Order: sequence, then C-alpha cells, then structure tokens
Amino acid sequence: MLGGMGRFDDAYQGKPPWDIDRPQPRFVELLAGNIVRSPIVDIGCGTGENAIAFAAAGHEVVGIDLVPRAIELARAKAAARGVDVRFEVGDALDLGALGRTFATALDSGVFHVFDDPERVRYVESLGRIVEPGGRYVMMVFSDLEPTDWGGPRRIKREEIEQSFADGWTVESIEPAVFDTNIHPHGGKAHFAVLRRL
Ligand code: SAH
Repeated sequence: MLGGMGRFDDAYQGKPPWDIDRPQPRFVELLAGNIVRSPIVDIGCGTGENAIAFAAAGHEVVGIDLVPRAIELARAKAAARGVDVRFEVGDALDLGALGRTFATALDSGVFHVFDDPERVRYVESLGRIVEPGGRYVMMVFSDLEPTDWGGPRRIKREEIEQSFADGWTVESIEPAVFDTNIHPHGGKAHFAVLRRL
C-alpha cells in the first residue's frame, strides 16, 4: 500500500477532518522560536496551510503530498494569497526523489498514517533529506486520544523514540492538541522535535 493513496485521494473529494483552512496552532508557535530554519519541506502538506504560514513568515518552503488534488488546492491558495511556496506531488516514502536536502522537515499528521513497514521506510526516507544538524518536527495522534471515532493510528511516545533511535536525537516530545473539523477541543497529540545527527 502506498501510504493509503486511494484513501487520501477519496478524502480530498470532500472536506477531510484535518483540512481546517488555517495552520495548526502548535506549528504556528514555532515561528516565534529558532527551531525552524530554511529551507523547509512540509511532508504530506495537504492543502498547504502550514507551508503557506511558514512561507508568509519569510521561510523558503516546499510542500509535498501524494494526492494531486491536495497540491492543486494548495497552489491555488498560495496564489490567491500572494505567497511564494513550491508545491509538488511527491511521496514521503521516497523523499530522496526530491534531489535536495532541507534544514527542517515538518510533518503535521503524516507519521501516524503509515503501517509498521512503511514507518521504517519513512524514517529512512527522512534521513536522506534532512541535513546533519537539521530537524524533523512532527505532530501525531497520541495514545491518549480515544479511538471511538476511528481515525489514524495512535502513537505511543516510545514508538517515536524507537523509530528515531539511530541517527537522530530526540530533542523533545510534548503533549499537544490537534485542531480538526470533528474535535470541539482538539485531538490529543504528541509534538516532537527530532534532530538529525
Ligand atoms: N499536513 C496536512 C495533512 C495531514 S493528513 C495538514 O496538517 O492538514 C495526511 C496527509 O498525508 C494527507 O494530505 C495525505 O494525502 C498525505 N499522505 C499520505 N501518504 C503520503 C505519502 N506516502 N506521501 C506524501 N503524502 C502522503
């Protein structure tokens, strides 16, 4: 399965629960600090709100997503807002195909879509494009989020630590809130910052 491609193609025929028409507040908070440096890749960027927010703040940003419809929507938003961002169809499991490296990789709600073998490929793929000393910043649903509404996998803190045990340092894993179209008070998440050795 290629990251659940059919599933995500279908989701963008309608309004996906994660597509909130504004950037995730926890990612916006990063703009105030010095964790994020350009160039940035936003992996699984969806319709581009996070990528656009970072570009509007002066960063050089490339957003990639597997779903062409998401990339079309992202390009249209960036053009309408006059923000310079590059959006490309691309596969998180083959980031080497981008042919370049980044100081920062952002992941809002992508790590938790992969099954175990895909997760291993994803971490390898990240290792090819995040520069030494660069960071991978991610937010995923945590094991504190109930499963009664379905949704993606819930991730334990230790799973993040184990996935990045080789070649990375865990700088922080903190509780966070995922804004969605279906949670009145947000979904329970981990916000993690990993540094590439
Ligand atoms: N980051 C966006 C979207 C999160 S939903 C946001 O915060 O709104 C997960 C996204 O990952 C979807 O847009 C889906 O199309 C994308 N995706 C799933 N598998 C992928 C893969 N293998 N490569 C790139 N994008 C993928």
